Amino acid sequence: MLRVILAGHTLDREFVQSMRRGELPADVEPTPETISAAYARISRFPEPIPELRAQARRDVPASRKSNRTIVFRMGHHSVAEHVQLNFDILGVSRLALEALEDARLCSYTEKSQRYVTFGGEHVVPEEFGPAERELFEAAAAEQIAFYRRAFEKLLELQRKRNSDMLGTKTGVETVEGWAKEDARYALGLATETQLGFSGNARNLEHVVRKLRHHPLAEVRALSRGLFDAASEVAPSLIILSDPERFREAFGRDVSDGFVARGRATIERLARETMASAAPEAASVGWTEGDVTLLGGAADPDAAVIAALLHSGSGLPYANCSARAKAMSSGERRGFVCDALAELSEFDALPREFEAAAFTFEIALSAACFGQLKRHRMMTLVAQPYDPALGITIPEAVREAGLAGELRELAERSAGTFARLASTQPRAAEYVLTNAHRRRALAVINLREIHHMARLRMDKHAQWDIRDVTASITALARRAAPATALLACGKDAFASVRSALRA
Ligand SMILES: Cc1cc2nc3c(=O)[nH]c(=O)nc-3n(C[C@H](O)[C@H](O)[C@H](O)COP(=O)(O)OP(=O)(O)OC[C@H]3O[C@@H](n4cnc5c(N)ncnc54)[C@H](O)[C@@H]3O)c2cc1C
Repeated sequence: MLRVILAGHTLDREFVQSMRRGELPADVEPTPETISAAYARISRFPEPIPELRAQARRDVPASRKSNRTIVFRMGHHSVAEHVQLNFDILGVSRLALEALEDARLCSYTEKSQRYVTFGGEHVVPEEFGPAERELFEAAAAEQIAFYRRAFEKLLELQRKRNSDMLGTKTGVETVEGWAKEDARYALGLATETQLGFSGNARNLEHVVRKLRHHPLAEVRALSRGLFDAASEVAPSLIILSDPERFREAFGRDVSDGFVARGRATIERLARETMASAAPEAASVGWTEGDVTLLGGAADPDAAVIAALLHSGSGLPYANCSARAKAMSSGERRGFVCDALAELSEFDALPREFEAAAFTFEIALSAACFGQLKRHRMMTLVAQPYDPALGITIPEAVREAGLAGELRELAERSAGTFARLASTQPRAAEYVLTNAHRRRALAVINLREIHHMARLRMDKHAQWDIRDVTASITALARRAAPATALLACGKDAFASVRSALRA
């Protein structure tokens, strides 16, 4: 069952110390809102900040009032960012999490399907009536039974393959993890999980407002849970997502039309536009595995080098760009190697590497999408899961002789999906598995590609996201041979670097 618990929040330290000393007056309510109110006053009042904080603490109602005015009436929303809230979220489905984790400026840590064995707990979508529920439960039971059986077989396979690792607790856990992370391709998107979720009040308000209008009932319930928990401690900072309080405070309705219906309008227009003329699929770009490079800067190496020349030389961009474009490939490579001579695998690349961005189309499994979406410094938009795209089958599942069974399970799940979709097109997705696929569009700059490569091409990364990241990186290297030189897993960083110096 879905539960949202407020685990923690920002609080002025003076409140905490007064409480510890037992000196907090009974009529003073310790709330995170005083921090936002005090910081908002920095721009207008001459008093030192500790005094502004003391004033805000002394008069909480006035702090709330000024938050409402400054944040919502004057539009100075960034002051709400000074308040951080933490939530425990339990009993949420993997599918609903996709909606939550769409918020890029928040933080998440969720139960790993690699480390934790799943007992079969799953969300039963509220949208389903008795007949739909029966269909759904039958499919879910089959997925869970296959997961358990596949886990045993995969564990046996991994133990045989990696018998040298079984002497240590870490080795045993790693081997078990490999079996779990492959067995989970049979698990449905309704599988329950738990996570820690943190965000500042500004982002939280955005999340609550967006999720309140989501087509899935579970996601709307999540929005309510977050709103109820947050508005207990920070009512003045999440008012835009509370139509009644907004009306009370400002005497007019907040316009939610686009949040509520904008996505549906885009989908309708897209369907109509694509149906109105038979579209010719033109060749779009280079492909590597399941990733296609659709576009980007014409000369990404020159774009990054020009940006480095610009910030380093003090000369106008036109001169820097002309110089970068005129460099030979050897000069470009030498320039990048010298500029990054002291870079370690723990250092972010200079921001100038954001000057080149690439657009990719990626066909990927739900298991892989779950990982890709956690990289927040990119634009990631995805189509719904589509059984017509087939499924992703882990290599170990093939080796264990389970590929045919997984395929059959996925086909039966897709059959149930089609039946459920006739009445519940959105909620039907719950019955698809981690192996089912979708298409995503990702716009990623070269700096983030380096970061992703470090984490996801490393030996600790799961194979599916490793394959996708390796394809993204290979395409970036093809387009930007000089500036993508150091994009590699962190375990390979030292050798890649020394090969460059040689
Ligand atoms: C081997 C492995 C195992 C993992 N296991 C789990 C797991 O069990 N559970 C789980 O939930 N996740 C897991 N993850 C995902 C991981 O926690 C990250 O969420 C994911 O890799 C995204 O990377 P990132 O956070 O470094 O950066 P990105 O989101 O790609 O952002 C790039 C960089 O921007 C900066 N940045 C972005 N957003 C913020 C922010 N809000 N605050 C501060 N800096 C920010 C950071 O410098 C970050 O490195 C795992 C990842 C790996 C590689």
